[in-house]
Amino acid sequence: MRKKIVAGNWKMNKNLAGTKTLLSELKTELGQSSNAEIIVAPTFTNLYGAVEALKSSDVTVAAQNMHQATNGAYTGEISADMLKDIGVETVILGHSERRAYFGETDALLVEKVNTALENNMTIIFCFGEELEDRKSDHHFSVVENQLKNGLFHIAETNWKNVVLAYEPVWAIGTGETASPEQAQEMHAFIRSAIAKAYNQDIADAVSILYGGSVKPANAEEIFAKPDVDGGLIGGASLDAKSFAAIANAI
Ligand code: 13P
Repeated sequence: MRKKIVAGNWKMNKNLAGTKTLLSELKTELGQSSNAEIIVAPTFTNLYGAVEALKSSDVTVAAQNMHQATNGAYTGEISADMLKDIGVETVILGHSERRAYFGETDALLVEKVNTALENNMTIIFCFGEELEDRKSDHHFSVVENQLKNGLFHIAETNWKNVVLAYEPVWAIGTGETASPEQAQEMHAFIRSAIAKAYNQDIADAVSILYGGSVKPANAEEIFAKPDVDGGLIGGASLDAKSFAAIANAI
């Protein structure tokens, strides 16, 4: 049985007070009822507070990004060691916003992936095609290349530390979701690409999350698809009731 996961990517939202409020509301709303592992990813400045606030709960905390170097003269950056030191063991890498606005390339992601794995962290590796790619029927090859170029160099043993998040760029923050059928089709393709590059056992074991305008109203039918193992939630994760409803849709 693959792990089911619902993760909230808060992006650059919520100050200290807002983080405290949302976390306390989440603890109430989530209760014990979800069958999924729940992860939240607040901003860097609120990670430590989130770890402390969630100590008594099953919810874990992820960072939204990380630098590839161990330490040193990298003004403004945060290392794997710093994250682990405050109890953050999971990191989102390769989000389309990092790729588009901060110039993160596949080659850079290889470095970040390696650093995270060397530090025994869990990676939520994001990828997904743009609208033009889908319109021109290149979405499968774009996705396969993102995986090949950014992730498929890792050793077989490292896959236990990897969660995939398919996030079609055209569905992020747009209110337009991939249909459950489109998500299933791509997730099955991703799994077959892993089976081809590695083996079927690894492909069957990896959790593949869908991200892009997941809401309480559409979560259940997306999550019901056999190759969709949960979601990476942006906007709807900023509201405790919505996020809990999505988590409970697993
Ligand atoms: P939205 O749920 O706001 O579309 O964002 C998805 C996302 O980017 C999660 O990482």
